[in-house]
Amino acid sequence: MNVFRALPSVDRLLQFPEVRDAPLPRQVLVAAARATLEIERERVGGGMPPAGPSELAARTLDLANHRLAPNLRSVINATGVILHTNLGRAPVSEETALAMADAASHYSNLEFDLGTGERGSRHDHLRDLLREVTGAEDGIAVNNNAGAVLLALSALAAGREVIVSRGQAVEIGGGFRIPDVMRQSGCRLVEVGTTNRTYASDYRQAVDESTALLLHVHPSNFRVEGFVHEVAIGEMVEVARSAGIAVMDDIGSGAVIDTREFGLAAEPRVQDSIRDGASIVCFSGDKLLGGPQAGLIVGTRDAIARVRVHPLARALRIDKASLAGLETTLRHYVRGEAIEKIPIWRALATAIDDLEHRAAAFVAALASPRAGVLPTRAAVGGGSLPQETVPSWAIQIGPIPEDDVASLARRLRSGDPAVVGRIEDGALILDLRTVLPGEDTVLLAAVRSALSG
Ligand SMILES: *Cc1c(COP(=O)(O)O)cnc(C)c1O
Repeated sequence: MNVFRALPSVDRLLQFPEVRDAPLPRQVLVAAARATLEIERERVGGGMPPAGPSELAARTLDLANHRLAPNLRSVINATGVILHTNLGRAPVSEETALAMADAASHYSNLEFDLGTGERGSRHDHLRDLLREVTGAEDGIAVNNNAGAVLLALSALAAGREVIVSRGQAVEIGGGFRIPDVMRQSGCRLVEVGTTNRTYASDYRQAVDESTALLLHVHPSNFRVEGFVHEVAIGEMVEVARSAGIAVMDDIGSGAVIDTREFGLAAEPRVQDSIRDGASIVCFSGDKLLGGPQAGLIVGTRDAIARVRVHPLARALRIDKASLAGLETTLRHYVRGEAIEKIPIWRALATAIDDLEHRAAAFVAALASPRAGVLPTRAAVGGGSLPQETVPSWAIQIGPIPEDDVASLARRLRSGDPAVVGRIEDGALILDLRTVLPGEDTVLLAAVRSALSG
């Protein structure tokens, strides 16, 4: 007997009442029915008894619903890494998210001057805010900081030499290597000094008539310690000025607020680099600025004017939703409300006692013999301040056997909303410093349901 004869055809399966009456698009149901039958044929071929009609209908609907569910979903970040690159770096403030949704769902004056009724520039919306926040004469936003660096080098130094300290010809991660970016932008990289020590005299000796820039790169994601010497921006500016050239600073994280206020080491600030004389400073929008993905280029009027007209500025241009988000985020700084409104700063600023209370309340509500509170350390992440941590409190579930903790973590990841924590010494750790305020209730429900299987 041919066991496959027991399986319905695609058309028959589509006629089963549960499938036929499902409020789902026909082509999705057809694809799901085909896939269900293909899988079933394989199972039956492998010796399994054929599934009945209602089982096949249920699997078809599951597949169809799965295909229609969004792939990119929100996640509760319980990792304790505030700027988690794989979890989308900075979540934006509520007002920023609203501004982004508004710009995306309506027409806007993106490139339209409402005063004159004539064409405007998308770059005009941020200029005054960037000036106010960073102290620079002018500024422009592009798609991301990698793009910002590529654009700035292309516009200001193509065909010429750019001098970089050997200790700063770094890889930032995700394939962003300073020597490669340099080649892409048509500049010639001239490395000076050594990996651990570079002096002003190294730059001075390397400058010649084909030098366009001295480039300073913040080696965001690592530290060289011990016998080290770096040349400060101010000193680089002195060397550059006497040679009639400029200093460009790829500052990476783009902090505007002093990270030392939170018990962390100092992360270079944009306004300090500008104050010390850098002509061009590039930084990310979604690292310590706490806004949407973007690359910001601020600097002298002259340098920004050259950046603005370069063809890559068009190729890397920022989209309207990000532009609206950046504007709102920058306004938080201008209004002096950044720490209370911007989630990443709020996470850093949350008092340790608050976290302890939240953890205790969570564990009490969970009432599971396997759960307890745990003092821990949270990290900034996003390639900022490596090795630096701030105190935090976590929920600890376990220790439980290895398979159990892995499957608990998997159930949390596949829930809705998905929850991502970390596993330490056989226990699941959920760090509350990165769990957004207002997420505790859904987190509790998610943990309850994951614990019950
Ligand atoms: C993160 C970083 C970049 C890349 O920025 P993206 O916004 O991720 O494109 C470039 N340079 C430095 C120094 C960085 O830290």
